[in-house]
Amino acid sequence: MFRKLLVANRGEIAIRIIRTCRRLGVRTVAVYSDPDKDSLHVTEADEAYRLEGFRSRNTYLDSEKILAIARETGAEAIHPGYGFLSERASFARACEQAGIIFIGPKPEVIEMMGDKMAARRAAVAAGVPVVPGSLEPLRSMAELKQLLVDIGAPILLKAASGGGGKGIRAVWHADGDDFTLASNEAREAFGDERLYAEKYLTSVRHVEVQLLGDGNGKIWILGDRDCSAQRRHQKLVEEGPALLPPGVRLKMWDYARRIGKHCNYENAGTVEFILDGETPYFIEVNTRLQVEHPVTEAVTSLDIVALMLQVAAGDAVNLPDGDPSCQGHAIEVRLYAEDPAQDFRPSPGRITAMQFPDDIRIDVGFEPGKTIPPFYDAMIGKLIVHGKDRAEAVEKMRTALAQSRLEGVATNIPMLRSLLSSMEFDRGAFDTKVLERLLTSNGCA
Ligand code: ADP
Repeated sequence: MFRKLLVANRGEIAIRIIRTCRRLGVRTVAVYSDPDKDSLHVTEADEAYRLEGFRSRNTYLDSEKILAIARETGAEAIHPGYGFLSERASFARACEQAGIIFIGPKPEVIEMMGDKMAARRAAVAAGVPVVPGSLEPLRSMAELKQLLVDIGAPILLKAASGGGGKGIRAVWHADGDDFTLASNEAREAFGDERLYAEKYLTSVRHVEVQLLGDGNGKIWILGDRDCSAQRRHQKLVEEGPALLPPGVRLKMWDYARRIGKHCNYENAGTVEFILDGETPYFIEVNTRLQVEHPVTEAVTSLDIVALMLQVAAGDAVNLPDGDPSCQGHAIEVRLYAEDPAQDFRPSPGRITAMQFPDDIRIDVGFEPGKTIPPFYDAMIGKLIVHGKDRAEAVEKMRTALAQSRLEGVATNIPMLRSLLSSMEFDRGAFDTKVLERLLTSNGCA
């Protein structure tokens, strides 16, 4: 195992990684931007170093500054968490060149999966079905028109380098200027104008499979999660195991394993699918720790960060030969500082009061008196419950949300309460439009 590790992230995920390191006896180095100088991740780490500046690009995305700190402090490895540098192949490569271990897959795999079109081609090569659409970049409105004829409207135009629910545009007619608008947006947001198309399947569930590879051909499947409760293609509530007929689950696990084997996957990753009825289609691979990994940890009793460290350090992986089993049901909700009265705009500011139940897992990056800066993602943290079955988990989450209080900033807690107490949530297996329907019926869509 490593002696010392740098955590190239902030907020709840930096704290979560530091806690596992402490348990494993690994010393931690935190980095922080100027607005984060009093953050909890700074006090939790053994050492902390300033990344001068406040915007992401000058701080948590500045790979040279971060690598220099790793070298100076003698950190042998870097855990990137999620977001920021976690899916930048160039950073993984720079770590390799600097003799520092990047905790994640090989740069070539990050690169391939980061190009969502290349990932689609890899899935096809591994014998895994993808949503009908294009495998090469679309070059013109004329090509888009032809696709609308071939596969039928509606179509989703997706940025090849997109992510986080951004860079996705629905096209219903051939007469607009969607192609130009979408490629301009993609160039602006991701520095890559390439677009591809997928059939827009209008009622789907989002189900994903967690995998871990040892880089020597061994792939473990650590269960699955349903992340259909989304707003604008962004996940808000995740649960696992997904409610699936056994045959469908086996098929999805087999697909995920095929993709893992196809690219000799090393470390943790998530294969995402959309489910049209009982038919799964591959959509992408996230080559990093997911926000929603605690759902899997709750049902498997595993520590995914510890497993990531074991794989990266070349230690024996603490897992049985077969796939680990899952017990009961877990649900996670993401708490955001955003204002429902203002179309869910981020609402940064000082947290004046904060209270959560003490009998559930709380992964939160702030405490009362701390300020949520306006420069980064508006997620405050996550609540995670585990029950013997789904009904018990739902009940526990309802109670947890009723007992949660956060003051000083507007949050999505009221919306989460309303979703968790809805009939649709109670029934489960809802599609990705569940929140849209709820917000429309509450009159705030
Ligand atoms: P990102 O990388 O930005 O997260 P994804 O391709 O993973 O983008 O898609 C995000 C979400 O958008 C999915 O979880 C799903 O809800 C929805 N989505 C993606 N592709 C399709 C599709 N072809 N039809 C219907 N919904 C889709």
